[in-house]
Amino acid sequence: MGTNVTASRGPTGADLDVVVEQVAQDVAGLADQGAVATYIPALARVDPAHFALAVAPLDGPPAAVGDADTTFSIQSISKVFTLTLAMQRFAGDIWERMGREPSGDPFNSLVQLEYENGKPRNPFINAGAIVLADILRTCLDDPLSELVQLVSELCGEPVTVDGEVALSEAETGFRNRSLANLMTGFGNIHGDPQAVLDIYFAQCSIAMTPAQLARSLGYLANDGVDPRSGARVLSAEKARRVNALMLTCGTYDAAGEFAFRVGIPCKSGVGGGVVGIVPHHLSACAWSPRLDQTGNSVQGRAALEALIDRTGLSVF
Ligand code: GLN
Repeated sequence: MGTNVTASRGPTGADLDVVVEQVAQDVAGLADQGAVATYIPALARVDPAHFALAVAPLDGPPAAVGDADTTFSIQSISKVFTLTLAMQRFAGDIWERMGREPSGDPFNSLVQLEYENGKPRNPFINAGAIVLADILRTCLDDPLSELVQLVSELCGEPVTVDGEVALSEAETGFRNRSLANLMTGFGNIHGDPQAVLDIYFAQCSIAMTPAQLARSLGYLANDGVDPRSGARVLSAEKARRVNALMLTCGTYDAAGEFAFRVGIPCKSGVGGGVVGIVPHHLSACAWSPRLDQTGNSVQGRAALEALIDRTGLSVF
């Protein structure tokens, strides 16, 4: 006879408040490690000292420590939302246009895309997300508004695109333009590449707080159903697949390291946010702007690792 160990794991309520405080102390010594992203000038102006951990458990009140109510640029975390929107609304087969394998390369790499005939390895590297933006343009009249509406519904508050960051991305997004042009050459971008990039730059520039991000992803911990509203966001099968892609591809060429150390589905962005999902338990967001060489937040990863260590929650 097996016993239901998962149901008894993990702190809730006041215990979780204590755990997040402990996690903040665990990672405080890393505060000077890594560097803020500077290739997008608007991001370089962010105070590197920010730190937050926000946790949204399915079975209790949220817990947070640090700057959990400060907005920051979600950057590549937006790729989880565009994949979700495409899974909801695109009647065709997303996977004819991109793969489901980790790339092992940096998020903005061009080399693999040339070898592989313009078909991105997965939806969470830049090339894949640019194809997703193209897909959304074909099935939605106003994809950016629909995306902002979806994200606002998921977090229960209106979110906005930071126009200054979007402009800064557009002015300096040379690699992303190269990716879009290369894929247009291979026939894998169907619309005007500039219009596709406008969507991509805007989605990366959505501003959210760590607390908003943590609760907005509750549906991925809850078999596709938003735990606050009860609305079905994705089928359980699709939610499982988003989680699988986050685990294997969500943190670029550090995905193996994240799986080894943190061991849950994660998605990071160069704004310093990292979201993590423990299916059937919680969704979380850690934020600290200093990044390692792979573009992942140093303290963000460490905070999720410490959260998992201290709670004993894991998918393994
Ligand atoms: N907007 C960023 C870019 O295109 C997103 C990258 C990221 O967050 N990893 O380079």
